Amino acid sequence: MSKSDQLFEQARQSIPGGVNSPVRAFNGVGGTPVFIERADGAYLYDVDGKAYVDYIGSWGPMLLGHNHPAIKAAVMTAVEKGLSYGAPTEIEVRMAERVRAILPSMEQVRMVNSGTEATMSAIRLARGYTGRDKIVKFEGCYHGHADSLLVKAGSGALTLGQPNSPGVPADFAKHTLTCIYNDLASVEAAFAQYGQEIACIIVEPVAGNMNCIPPVPGFLEGLRALCDRHGAVLILDEVMTGFRVSKQGAQGHYGITPDLTTLGKIIGAGMPVGAFGGKREIMQHIAPTGPVYQAGTLSGNPIAMAAGLAMLDLLEQPGLYEALNEKTARIAEGFKAAAAKHGISLAINQVGGMFGFFFSSEPTITRFDQVTRCDMEQFKRFYHLMLEEGVYLAPSAYEAGFLSLAHGDKEIEHTLAAAERSFAKLAG
Ligand code: PMP
Repeated sequence: MSKSDQLFEQARQSIPGGVNSPVRAFNGVGGTPVFIERADGAYLYDVDGKAYVDYIGSWGPMLLGHNHPAIKAAVMTAVEKGLSYGAPTEIEVRMAERVRAILPSMEQVRMVNSGTEATMSAIRLARGYTGRDKIVKFEGCYHGHADSLLVKAGSGALTLGQPNSPGVPADFAKHTLTCIYNDLASVEAAFAQYGQEIACIIVEPVAGNMNCIPPVPGFLEGLRALCDRHGAVLILDEVMTGFRVSKQGAQGHYGITPDLTTLGKIIGAGMPVGAFGGKREIMQHIAPTGPVYQAGTLSGNPIAMAAGLAMLDLLEQPGLYEALNEKTARIAEGFKAAAAKHGISLAINQVGGMFGFFFSSEPTITRFDQVTRCDMEQFKRFYHLMLEEGVYLAPSAYEAGFLSLAHGDKEIEHTLAAAERSFAKLAG
């Protein structure tokens, strides 16, 4: 029995399902999860001593690879000064100023501890600011696990939402309208019916939680126009896309100005961090300036701020995003070519350092229902073949892949050779 298997068995005694976040349990691919001992550069090392080229990067933040010396040094220096004060610090001011300088739509910024907190707070603020209760979200997008967001569409596209988890009161869920990603008509219909009651639209500007689905031309622009017309707040959830699809995130990449933005992952370089911010006029409604309550003992934690600022400093390197894009394109196109060689239909999406591959014969994947029709059995087999080859992909066909700058020629070539052998086995 491997040490990972032993640990998983032990973990299940004390931790529900053996994991502290569900997707880690390998429910999407079967088998037992690999337990990680350490990470460095493009690699994860498991407790049994096996190395993997990592395409999860802690689900996004490791844009520069694991254990980056400058980030590690910034954290060590901060640790010397104490772990948390629960009082204002200069480094929080520097962080807010830096975020504003990179993302001008964020005129004011509030730090929190996770992406979930960021989206939950942004939605409360949008509701408090507009005095409206309903929100619009999209099927297949994930924004963390706040009550209003764990909601699926009702029986028809325009019926009120229903909880998709026990513990979420139906009375909360009914305020969430779930529309179809990349289908502006579904959002227009929601506004036609409920326009005066909708506080906000929250959207992943490149969806990364239904595999990787970029917005079709006109979709984000259409959401912006609908919010303007109906006095609703547009929230771009850039927890995944922020500082990844471009330095200015998806809002810079697609030229869309949101009212509020939520951030996480990269802004903390792997420390538990999130942030939300946007128009000063809206942000002024947050406590203590305004009446919408939001708070956090550990928010703006000095170690997390030091890690995040060191990361933002490193993102200034010229050519960084071009290199990331080029590496990610090599993986995406390499997968497609390797699959084609063995007669396997594979569709590919890629935006900057995010990519997705779909076992589908449809040439382009732009909608959630197409993802659900992919060949999940083929995905599972491919996943385990790649894991055996030392390539660590997201253990679910509904997750995007992430590259880092630490992925060099050696790692990319190893991955593509492994992919080719795995596709050959799938075909054989
Ligand atoms: N928004 C998006 C777009 C996400 O991808 C995630 C998590 N993957 C969240 C919010 C929630 O972030 P967290 O897991 O840090 O709570």
